[in-house]
Amino acid sequence: MDTDTIAAISTPMGEGGIAVIRVSGPEAVSIADKIYKGKKSLASVPSHTVNYGFIIDPESKERIDEVLVTVMRAPRTFTREDVVEISCHGGMIPVERTLEALLATGARLAEPGEFTKRAFLNGRIDLSQAEAVMDLIRAKTDRAAKMALGQHEGRLSRMINRLRNEILEVLAHLAVNVDYPEYDAEEMTAKLLRERAQEIEREIERLLSTARQGKIIREGIHTAIVGRPNVGKSSLMNALTQENKAIVTDIPGTTRDVIEEYVNVRGIPLRLLDTAGIRETEDVVERIGVERSRQALEQADLILLVLNYAEPLNEEDRRLLQWVRNHTALVIVNKTDLPRKLDLDQVRELSGDLPIITTSLKEERGIEDLEEAISRLFKLGKVDMADGTYVSNARHIHLLKKALESVREVLNGIDAGMPLDMVEIDLKNAWQFLGEVIGDAVAEDLIDQIFSQFCLGK
Ligand code: GDP
Ligand code: ZN
Repeated sequence: MDTDTIAAISTPMGEGGIAVIRVSGPEAVSIADKIYKGKKSLASVPSHTVNYGFIIDPESKERIDEVLVTVMRAPRTFTREDVVEISCHGGMIPVERTLEALLATGARLAEPGEFTKRAFLNGRIDLSQAEAVMDLIRAKTDRAAKMALGQHEGRLSRMINRLRNEILEVLAHLAVNVDYPEYDAEEMTAKLLRERAQEIEREIERLLSTARQGKIIREGIHTAIVGRPNVGKSSLMNALTQENKAIVTDIPGTTRDVIEEYVNVRGIPLRLLDTAGIRETEDVVERIGVERSRQALEQADLILLVLNYAEPLNEEDRRLLQWVRNHTALVIVNKTDLPRKLDLDQVRELSGDLPIITTSLKEERGIEDLEEAISRLFKLGKVDMADGTYVSNARHIHLLKKALESVREVLNGIDAGMPLDMVEIDLKNAWQFLGEVIGDAVAEDLIDQIFSQFCLGK
């Protein structure tokens, strides 16, 4: 277990109103005291108080910044260690100098996610809650934040714990039967076991069924805008990003090679793919022809196909229509301010059941309708977040699937008349997989890997 004291800047880098430096560990208060000057020493103030004072350079003794220092003694803190939070006035220089001063007087620079890792290791939160902290940091819409918050509050953990307890009960029952084979009719136990296993199967299935929605809320809808040159793809991109305040993401460690923009359309996070590609490669034939672009398009959750109202349908439009028919897509007929040359009946025929929206991006008409169509398509408006337990994390989904497989093995085993102590093994596996979701029995390197995805200071 770590016993040193760590420090890091906990607020995003850059010019801000205030910046917070967090210190955690057994020496947190005494280290902070060495660089703090206020009415009283931090060692003498009560826990959970905010204290006004100054940060003093330990060498030159000059004032670095005017600060508010929150002292929180263990165990009622995020890490369950002594925690000191220093709110600086902002501007990077005083913040960085304060951090340097802390490092010079005995603190160690925290690794990314180390505060949260300590909270986990000290039993303050379980692994799914820790992961939720990361989701919360990355949340791009209110909904995503709420979902992460629900998970952070332990909703998923409670669910998993309940399932595991149910399995434990069954296992206990089985143990009795296996230990005293003469005691009961094995048949009775098998019948009961079957019922219980089915219940557990249903509950895991229900959790997994939230995964698609959860993934959408968490990661956004991968959206591609396609259409031949000059139909208004870039204009559409601009309209969507201007209407819906593009969300700035500055998450360290995220891949930068895929260019995409986030927009928030009525609470639905759209991830507009490869915008640079759309902007620069005006040749759609080339775009779609290139294998990589095609793959990106195939992986899109939503395709927006733009057609030109002022030109007749050409071969390329037809090909695109043909192709999008098998996808979740919307057809957008743009430039309705110009005289019509497009045969709309033909478009309707070729679009199958796809919704068709008419727009004039130049005159800013039809954008509302488009947003309405998008929100109808993904129906998130109907999802009740209040009691929703969402599974959105790929690791959790994977483990739940494994648990489900194991439970199904149990059911198959019973039906095949396998001895119950064989069936028991699969049930134990299910219990194990569920445990990994909340960090029970997770290998240490996996824990390190999960926490290293956090940004610094969390
Ligand atoms: P892209 O090649 O598909 O990305 O198309 P752009 O968005 O670059 O638009 C091509 C041209 O059409 C630009 O000059 C736009 O200003 C113009 N344009 C876009 N939407 C409309 C519209 O609704 N009406 C008219 N009249 N022009 C439009
Ligand atoms: Zn951060």
